[in-house]
Amino acid sequence: MNDLTYIQKRFVTYIETIMKSDKLSHSYLIEIGDISMDFPFILLFVKMILCPKNILEVEQFNCSSCNTCKLIDEGNFPDLEIVEAEGAQIKKRQLLSLKDEFQKKSLIGRRRVYIIKNAEKLNPSSANTILKFLEEPSDDIIAILLASNRYQVLDTILSRCQILSLYDASDIGIVDDVVVRLIKYIIHGDDLFVHYKEIYEEILVDKEKAKDIFICIEQVFIRFLSLSASSSGEKDEQFSFLESVNKNKILSYITIIEEELPKLVYNINYKLWLDSIYSRFVEVK
Ligand SMILES: [Zn+2]
Repeated sequence: MNDLTYIQKRFVTYIETIMKSDKLSHSYLIEIGDISMDFPFILLFVKMILCPKNILEVEQFNCSSCNTCKLIDEGNFPDLEIVEAEGAQIKKRQLLSLKDEFQKKSLIGRRRVYIIKNAEKLNPSSANTILKFLEEPSDDIIAILLASNRYQVLDTILSRCQILSLYDASDIGIVDDVVVRLIKYIIHGDDLFVHYKEIYEEILVDKEKAKDIFICIEQVFIRFLSLSASSSGEKDEQFSFLESVNKNKILSYITIIEEELPKLVYNINYKLWLDSIYSRFVEVK
């Protein structure tokens, strides 16, 4: 649990909450970054779903010791199927055999999960094979579709899935108070320096934390801009204070984060880096 990123921890907390209230959906589309980096985390999600230990009893879910969790880690759990594109596409044949497999009864008698990697490689014909399956699953089947970008996935698939994101923290319910606080400081500019000690000691304690939080802030800004540009009327109550901020200012903040964040991977002095990004925020007019 400790080596999870900020966004991953939020994801786990979110899943724990919905599982406790028994509101697990039947189909998820999860936006992930690098598949080799993020896939172990997706398996953690699968373990949360399939582990026979009651989620209510496992505080900060970390079971890797029961038989089910062990088999999942080894890739040998019979009620977990993983479909992967063969070349440029996911073939219809692959999905038909998946469907066949899942029409049989569960071997263990609990939930079953299938994962479709690269859901953007589902073409209309292969997608058609599983639409009904996604729509009317039997109670014990849960689909997890992975994609690097939701906008590359067919609408017919998207509309049948609950969409979550591993790099868009603003999708996962409410953003932490500290992030909201930091966004307010950024908007007021000088507050970044006024509250320097507090931010450094509580929020941006190190490079890793700073990276996660600035990615989150960037996503909040992007989401805010896209919501205010759409006519859906959907709004984030939590960020209603952004409405009084000039949109160009928000765009500038996004640009600064995108330009400054990559520098964190180099061996630079973290405090100097903070000073430099703060100064750039303060200069935004
Ligand atoms: Zn377990």
